[in-house]
Amino acid sequence: MSGSESNNRPASRTDGASAFVERLIKPEILAMSAYPVAPSVGLTKLDAMENPYSWPDEMVQQWLEQLRGAEVNRYPDAAATQLKSTLMRVLRVPQGAQVLLGNGSDELIQLLVMALAGPGRTVLTPEPSFAMYRLVSVFTGSDHVAVPLREDWSLDREAMLAAIETHQPSLIFLAYPNNPTGNLFDTGDMEAVIRAAPGLVVVDEAYEPFAQRTFMDRIQQAPNLVVMRTVSKLGLAGLRLGLLTGAADWIRELEKLRLPYNINVLTQITAGFALEHYPLLAEQAATIRRDRAGLAERLARFDSLQVWPSEANFLLVRVHDRSAREVAAALRQEGVLIRVLDGSSPALAGCLRISVGTPRENDQLLGALERILGHGRPGGAGELTPSP
Ligand code: PMP
Repeated sequence: MSGSESNNRPASRTDGASAFVERLIKPEILAMSAYPVAPSVGLTKLDAMENPYSWPDEMVQQWLEQLRGAEVNRYPDAAATQLKSTLMRVLRVPQGAQVLLGNGSDELIQLLVMALAGPGRTVLTPEPSFAMYRLVSVFTGSDHVAVPLREDWSLDREAMLAAIETHQPSLIFLAYPNNPTGNLFDTGDMEAVIRAAPGLVVVDEAYEPFAQRTFMDRIQQAPNLVVMRTVSKLGLAGLRLGLLTGAADWIRELEKLRLPYNINVLTQITAGFALEHYPLLAEQAATIRRDRAGLAERLARFDSLQVWPSEANFLLVRVHDRSAREVAAALRQEGVLIRVLDGSSPALAGCLRISVGTPRENDQLLGALERILGHGRPGGAGELTPSP
């Protein structure tokens, strides 16, 4: 290659990248959209189901003291032994079950799909459910089968069993409570799915702090069941830490896919520290649970809003007679960020998802909605759509 050609190379290669990209990136990935995360600087964040509360000053000081000893020049403990034992104790992982740690439960979803699915294999999920299950299935070349929930968001047991029979999925995800519908599926329906499944069933308990129901104690009896948790909703979303609990045989194989240092030094120290203060996190979750009921009732007072009951830290809302997108855009103008679900699934037409915030944030949301939608029904409790 001549000197002048090599001088020109960076510009021409950059300009021509799209031709390479279209030829080389796999078609299923070209056809995908990335998981959407809206910019949120300066906004009241009610879009991502975070815990809105911080820590008392004294606790922050103690934490910073511990971080002082962090050896960021060293790789983290690859097995995160100490953190794992703290998690197992605090989250009451049953005797005999093992734990796999992920950089958020998102990473565990990816790892599960890589281990169990891929081309020629099927991942089955209810629909609507957490978007990441489908996204990871698609980008690993797996077939993804979505079985619609009933209108009341309950599992359609017959449809699930029929789909299991037809597609023989190697992997099934059941979010308990479900995101974005907020409900807990009937345990009998879930047990029927676990019994009928020829593959692994992952019960995703990301919202357990708000529902306080678990399948973890069934791991021993059901050899094709694993339970996934995260510390994100508990108040540690910034750390990126999820865990999968299951029989040693499952965890041993899945460990092979985990990148060795996926839980960084700062996360290991901070999560360990925070979990030693678990009562504070649990109290914050209890506050969110209490405020959820009031927020749901006040939202349901708006004539144009339909609100479903929730066992999680968010509410699913349908906007009638208005465009959900326009309402979300107007809320954004008012400084409040929520999640638009309209367009993500036919069942979610007109829907928005709103995290439960602090009382002040909830008031800000409701005040903004009054300006956007007009006053709702005065006084008394709003009517929630009946529970499934
Ligand atoms: N599972 C469910 C059902 C979720 O809603 C989420 C996040 N919204 C996750 C898993 C991922 O959580 P994380 O990666 O923060 O652990």
